Parts: sequence; C-alpha cells; structure tokens
Amino acid sequence: SPVPTIVLNDGNVIPQLGFGVFQVPEEDVTTVVAEALKVGYRSIDTAAIYGNEEGVGRAIRASGIPRDEIYVTTKLWNSEQGYDSTLRAFDTSMQRLGLDYLDLYLIHWPVPKAGRFVDTFRAFQALKSQGRVKSIGVSNFRIPDLEQVIAETGEIPTVNQIELHPTLAQPELRAFHANNAIATEAWSPLGQGTLLDDPTIVSLAEELDRTPAQVIIRWHLQLGNIVIPKSVTPSRIAENFDVFTFELGAAAMAAINRLDRGTRVGPDPATFSAGL
Ligand code: NAD
Repeated sequence: SPVPTIVLNDGNVIPQLGFGVFQVPEEDVTTVVAEALKVGYRSIDTAAIYGNEEGVGRAIRASGIPRDEIYVTTKLWNSEQGYDSTLRAFDTSMQRLGLDYLDLYLIHWPVPKAGRFVDTFRAFQALKSQGRVKSIGVSNFRIPDLEQVIAETGEIPTVNQIELHPTLAQPELRAFHANNAIATEAWSPLGQGTLLDDPTIVSLAEELDRTPAQVIIRWHLQLGNIVIPKSVTPSRIAENFDVFTFELGAAAMAAINRLDRGTRVGPDPATFSAGL
C-alpha cells in the first residue's frame, strides 16, 4: 500500500489516509465502501449515529480482503455514554458491523455538561482489555476534556478525531496532542467541500497540476494528520487516494497555513449535546 502508517501510543498502527462515510445512506454505503477498497483504501471511518454500520460491515466481509488488512473505526453516540450503556452500545455496533473485533472505538463527542465521558472511557478500557477493540480514543475533545480523561483514568487516548481543515487548523490542540502522544485525526478535512474553490488552494492546484482536494489532503498528510475524506463519486474516491506521488513545498504549506480563520463547518464541542 502507498499509504504511510501512524504508530499510536499503544503500539498499534493506523493508515494515515482513510475513508469517511458520514451522510452515506445505508442503501448506498456497501457499494461506496466496496469502491474505496477497490481503489486501495484500507481504513474506514463510520459511527453508530451514521446509521450505516451494517452496510460498511457487509462491504468489508464481501471484499475478500483479510480482516487484519482493513482498519475499522466506529464511534459511541452521545445518548449511550456511561459505563453499562457503553458496553451495550459496543455490542450493538459489533453486531451491525458483523466483525469479531474493532480496530478503533471513539467517544463521538465529549458532551461536557453530561459529565459521563470518564465512565465511558473506563468502559472502553474494559473492552480493550477483553481484546474486543484494539485501540481506544476520543473525538471532538477539547484540551480540558483530554486533561480530565487522562487524569481520571490514567490512560492517554490514542487518537482525538477533530474538525480540522485549512480554515480551522487547530494549532493549540495539535500542539497538545504532540506533547501527549495523541494522534490527530482530521474530520471534514476538505471543509465538507467548501474549501475546494478557495483561490489559494485553486492556484496551488493549478501550479502543481493537481486538484484542490489533492492539495488539501497533501497538506494534512504533511502536517502528520490522519485524514479521512469522504466522497460517494468513484472518480473522486480515486482522486482523493492518488496523493502519494507529489509533495507540497514549504512555500505551499505556508500559504495554506495562512488560511486558518478558526472557523468551523460543524458543531462546537463545548455545547454539542445532540442525542441527550
Ligand atoms: P469532507 O471534508 O471529507 O468533504 C466531503 C465532501 O467534499 C463530499 O461530500 C463532496 O461534496 C466533496 N468532495 C470530496 N472529495 C471531492 C473531490 N475530490 N472533488 C470535489 N469535491 C469533493 O467532509 P465530511 O464527510 O464531513 O468528513 C469526512 C469524514 O470525517 C466523514 O465522512 C466522517 O467519517 C468523519 N466525520 C467525523 C465527525 C466527528 O464528529 N467525529 C464529524 C464529521 C465528519
């Protein structure tokens, strides 16, 4: 595989480029994931709330690719936070996926006002000690959330999957992650498509004879992010994977770094509590 891997703080490795399936309906997802696997992706990012775990699992099982060559991530939804409810939600996700172990389980959102993410992570630790999940991590955690889960469980999450793209470059969180051996995974890496007509990105793409999506994905890879772009269009699925035969120079990286405005396309983790 042309895809580099990132070594997590528990010793497991994750492909640096994966495939996201947010907003891909269950009836389409099997075809879309099959396409991604055909192109060469070996990491799939889903979540219980996406409503498509069954179709994702079906595509993986039908691919004929050995299970240990595919990296599967799913996420625990907000409504299921808490120790016992997490154990039950994990069983439900695994039944839907039809897999006997999971590579990475993430707490989807911290939901700080519910105060249940520490108990949730303790349940993750139990699932990991049983061998049902290889690595445990979080998503949308802010620095204080990370500090709390580390202080109260004694375990550092392997991954924090956060909104991250050129207009929300997350320098403070990335520095905290680097100092604590937490891998940074970028969601909505293309700003849900909104960054593809940015003039800086478009002109860099023209200069390099690449597409805007490829330029942004390269920026993520060169920053060291794990990146999980989503598309349902076969030509774009392939385009987003064809990012290992060119590089951005220092000037191009700097030009993209200057696009950071601290603006989100998704919800604010401080207040997001859907499902509660
Ligand atoms: P994205 O930034 O990957 O953008 C996807 C959209 O960009 C597509 O729907 C399409 O409109 C466009 N696009 C993609 N490739 C293109 C190309 N080559 N040319 C032109 N247009 C293209 O957005 P996303 O789906 O929100 O994020 C990626 C993944 O991150 C999700 O599928 C999901 O797995 C994950 N995610 C996680 C969270 C979380 O809370 N943890 C939240 C959102 C997304």
